[in-house]
Amino acid sequence: MKLTVLGCYSATPRTFNNPTSQVLEIKGNLFLIDCGEGTQVQLRRNRIKFARIKNIFISHLHGDHFYGLIGLVSTFRLLGREADLTIYGPKGIKEAIVLQLKLSDSWTNFNLRFIELESNEPQLIYEDDKVTVETIPLTHRVYTNGFLFREKLSERNLNIKAVEDFDISRAYYQKIKNGDDITLEDGRVIPNDQLTFDPPTPKSYAFCSDTTYKVDNVEQLMEVTVLYHESTFLDEHQHLTDKTKHSTAKEAAKMASKANVKTLILGHYSTRYNGIEVFKEEAQTIFKNVELAEDGKVFEF
Ligand SMILES: [Zn+2]
Repeated sequence: MKLTVLGCYSATPRTFNNPTSQVLEIKGNLFLIDCGEGTQVQLRRNRIKFARIKNIFISHLHGDHFYGLIGLVSTFRLLGREADLTIYGPKGIKEAIVLQLKLSDSWTNFNLRFIELESNEPQLIYEDDKVTVETIPLTHRVYTNGFLFREKLSERNLNIKAVEDFDISRAYYQKIKNGDDITLEDGRVIPNDQLTFDPPTPKSYAFCSDTTYKVDNVEQLMEVTVLYHESTFLDEHQHLTDKTKHSTAKEAAKMASKANVKTLILGHYSTRYNGIEVFKEEAQTIFKNVELAEDGKVFEF
């Protein structure tokens, strides 16, 4: 998986701070997660091919997470896009986009599909032959979901030396990769584990922004490879999290620790602080493996 952070600050866009948006690439598929103002500029700056984005996931309808969407949809049309585009987001997102298209006497030349979400339970909302995406119900001032991307288990890796030693025809290779045992012409049965290696462990990525510290989600996040968790505040402003429904760096680290994830990425920083290094320091008092999101930063895992 390759994660490109296009923007990771809360509230208003500033000269060097973009609101939330990320691109996740899984086995050649590009998924756009949130689309704050300026996302299309950030896509260009990071040399990401617009046309390859076929699915957009919007966590909630606060401006710093979706005000870039109408601009992006409009640009897709100007660029002559023909491929279908599916947008997943809270109920109301269709109305918000379609109204703007209508009032500007505009349209799309491609199929624009909306999957509107309103459940408070985790839901499987996307599936192809390589990836599944589930919602992660979050607690924020408006209806909000995070998204959990999971690779599917790929086929088994062929042990070329073994299949050649047993003189097995290529015609059986796919069956072997699917996990089948093979019967040789002399009647011997060769168990699959002598002919293959285990496939790589599937990876997973959980995006959680915006939300209060929500311990109910630990079970769903258990053992994910990478958890992105918002950390709007530092511990000194913990008292603000109740009203604003955000989290602190320490709370993000607590989630990572309880869910036993491999890596925690922090983001959605309030711009009230001088620098972001201090978010990492604070989180590391609870959970060791912490990374800081930064606009334009790429994580491969
Ligand atoms: Zn928000």
